[in-house]
Amino acid sequence: TTTIALFTRDLRVHDNPVLTGAVGAGGFVVPLFVWDSAVTAAGFGAEPRARFLAGCLADLDERLRARGGALVERHGDLVTEVCRLAEQVDATEVHVASDVSAFATNRARRLADALAAQRRQLVCHDGVHTVVAPGAITPHGRDHFAVFTPYHHKWAAAPRRAVLPPPRRLQMPPDLDASIQRDDKAGGETPSRRKARSWLSDGLDAYHERHDDLAGDATSRLSPYLHFGCVSAVELAAEAADRRTEGGDAFVRQLAWRDFHHQVLAARPDAAHSDYRPRGDRWRQDEQALQAWQHGQTGIPIVDAGMRQLLAEGWMHNRARMITGSFLTKTLYLDWRAGAAHFLRHLIDGDLANNNLNWQWVAGTGTDTRPNRVLNPLRQAERFDPSGDYTRRWVPELAGLDDPRRPWRLGAEALRRLGYPAPIVDLDAARDRFREARQLALEL
Ligand code: FAD
Repeated sequence: TTTIALFTRDLRVHDNPVLTGAVGAGGFVVPLFVWDSAVTAAGFGAEPRARFLAGCLADLDERLRARGGALVERHGDLVTEVCRLAEQVDATEVHVASDVSAFATNRARRLADALAAQRRQLVCHDGVHTVVAPGAITPHGRDHFAVFTPYHHKWAAAPRRAVLPPPRRLQMPPDLDASIQRDDKAGGETPSRRKARSWLSDGLDAYHERHDDLAGDATSRLSPYLHFGCVSAVELAAEAADRRTEGGDAFVRQLAWRDFHHQVLAARPDAAHSDYRPRGDRWRQDEQALQAWQHGQTGIPIVDAGMRQLLAEGWMHNRARMITGSFLTKTLYLDWRAGAAHFLRHLIDGDLANNNLNWQWVAGTGTDTRPNRVLNPLRQAERFDPSGDYTRRWVPELAGLDDPRRPWRLGAEALRRLGYPAPIVDLDAARDRFREARQLALEL
């Protein structure tokens, strides 16, 4: 028999139920990745993300070759490409990870039907991307948790599947062309395991104290690797919990947030694009303000710092994501969808569940239990960038200032000389505008 292991965003050989399942079927295994034209067309993936993904595939190929296999790559419509290859190698089964978005579940359904028409079977594995599979824990009488804390209680006590060792060997069918162009090694399981190891030994234990320190940059930065599945969330959570430290517990709690958003999206796929809890918002239209935000030119330094970090690195610190998100949705009162789309375009870790539901959380249309709070970016900068070094790093025009957080105090002429804009909005008036709008919506 021949089995196809269809990789999606589980680009690893360690603890991969898809690969283990395909090898366990016995016989030949064909590891496959399809660059799905529908995903490429959806505007996901600015250049750094595509480069990262190419690196993940190169690394996966190398690891498979060390075990007697190789990664087969195809481009086009995923269903068509899988069926074509299945016919070519006469595969009995195709193994794949279940995923939560409407796009992924529809695609899996189409693939299952198309394979069934060829008398082949699609085997979907749950719980490949998360620590606890979406839907595995539910509140009494409902299909998902809408609030994090009770979810987290159950999540912490939920049984975990065992971490799977990588398969020792796999056998590919003869005469299958798996030669692929490899020119980049940005992402992948090898750097991911190295990074995870050094994080667990050097960074984790202080995580609870340092995770909000913008200039200190003391979070794991594992999110791109987690997104593409170069590292298993199950394995990472187990190793962090084993440390039995406050830092370890705080980190595992963040992995629970990741699972939380996945279970919300699995139950409410519409929440990727529609308000999870509508608040009657009539978002403003202001293209100029949106562009100023996107380019880090709002005149509020901490906001601009975050937005410029995103453009430069394809990553942004979590605290900066909250500050810039709150600024867009509550201060500028612009639609969270515009922010989410911009983030997805630029984040290497861009992830429909984590991104769009965090955006809804920030906008107060999601699962935040205090939906009308407005983050004051100046106070946030004082608390989380007290030295001003994060701001100086990303807004070099202000690098020479003793306090780069309120440059408008120097006056219009000084701002002009620095080449930095005046604030595009009055923060106090904007906060009042938002509160009034939400209050009004409540009364309607
Ligand atoms: P660490 O602090 O080291 O945390 C470890 C891991 O836990 C992260 O890698 C991530 O997988 C998970 N995690 C941490 N915080 C969260 C959270 N609030 N929600 C869900 N998972 C979390 N995360 C993404 O992975 N993809 C996104 O597209 C994304 N978009 C976001 C958009 C907004 C508006 C906000 C406020 C947050 C978003 N996050 C997203 C969550 C969080 O900001 C990132 O996961 C985190 O900054 C990644 O850095 P890290 O790996 O160093 O995190």
